Amino acid sequence: METTMDYRNFIKPFSGRRRPNITRELTKLNYNAPKEAISLAEGMPNEATFPFEKITVQLKDGSNFTLRGPQLGSALQYLPTRGYPPLVKTLSEFTYYVHQPPNWEARELIVTNGSQDGLSKCIEMMLEEGDPILVQNPLYAGIEGILKPFKASLIPVPQDQNGIIPIMLKNALEDWKKRCTADKELKMPKLIYLNPTGSNPCGATIPLERRKEIYKICCDYNIIILEDNAYYFIHFNGPSPPSFLSLDTEGRVLHFDSFSKVLSSGLRLGWVTGPSVLIQNLELHIQSAHLHSSTLSQVMVQNLLKTWGFEKLIAHFGTVCSFYKIRRDCTVAAMERHLKGLCDWVVPSGGMFVWIKVRGVGDVYDMLLNRGVKNKHVTFVPGHAFMADPNQACNYIRAAFSKASPKQIDKAMSLLAELIREEKVL
Ligand code: PMP
Repeated sequence: METTMDYRNFIKPFSGRRRPNITRELTKLNYNAPKEAISLAEGMPNEATFPFEKITVQLKDGSNFTLRGPQLGSALQYLPTRGYPPLVKTLSEFTYYVHQPPNWEARELIVTNGSQDGLSKCIEMMLEEGDPILVQNPLYAGIEGILKPFKASLIPVPQDQNGIIPIMLKNALEDWKKRCTADKELKMPKLIYLNPTGSNPCGATIPLERRKEIYKICCDYNIIILEDNAYYFIHFNGPSPPSFLSLDTEGRVLHFDSFSKVLSSGLRLGWVTGPSVLIQNLELHIQSAHLHSSTLSQVMVQNLLKTWGFEKLIAHFGTVCSFYKIRRDCTVAAMERHLKGLCDWVVPSGGMFVWIKVRGVGDVYDMLLNRGVKNKHVTFVPGHAFMADPNQACNYIRAAFSKASPKQIDKAMSLLAELIREEKVL
């Protein structure tokens, strides 16, 4: 990688003290050992004691696969921490196929329990208590949950319909720099969290030119980008712009993928792609935290990817995307019918959410969580959950269009209109 990055400056001493776990390292070695090799090393249970005879997975397209005998045994057994080796290989090929990152050989990946697992562990790897971190504002509430125990100083970067605004990022950094000059205890941020395609909660997508500007600023200020790619394949106006991973000439992107929104959320499968040193440290954390992600989930997905190949997989993602696009359109139509004049919104370009601004109401918390839930039996998330400062008054609402039927969405929007009208006369 054309990088001058010294990752030791990013891995905090707490994480730097992690050391390989010998038994986990042996699991890795034994996985590839010749058949005749004898191991009395690993504390693996004997598969003969497992009560499962076979697992058949029938896909909706008519294809199927069955796990039985030794194949089933290993699908129910411990794994090396990186993940099920055939799946790690497939994910590596898939990530390259989709993103074609520069200097691919300097990157590695690891399977995680969904992207949330990777995000929380990578933040823990690099963030000290009280450290600053740049975040898109509003931001995915799951990140706030990670940051809270760190007492992190969230530096909010405002967004418009095209995601975070580069000049605002630069201004935020310059302002923080001045504060650092005045207060020697303060540090400059070394991380930014971005959810650049179909963001949660705004549904915004950062266009390519903006991505390039943001990347340049991150290079200038030596910042690592945590790219949360959960909605990359749920982008409604053609393919998503290239990821930050695709633009990453300097090795400053940790990229979080997930199968949750496009295959199944309960499989709990995601993967993190990034500079080798950082992925190796993450592996040490996983070795001690949960050993590895579910073998059965990984074997299932590997079989699916083998059966389908990448083209069919991406075609499936396209079908998923079309499903949500129809829901998005129904939602916008319902809002046009019921909320015109009461609220403002930007039509989401991806993801599963619409971000609604209520006119003439200072704060929506009580309206939604008291009157809405109790009297109208309808739930939305008050915008507070997604703000860098959740304690401030907030007149935004997040509505998810993923699960409810078009009829239910229409009803929910009419109930929201009633709630807002009532709120105004209260
Ligand atoms: N990032 C974003 C933006 C999300 O919306 C979610 C789930 N709601 C996640 C990450 C976590 O997803 P998972 O752990 O299931 O991959």
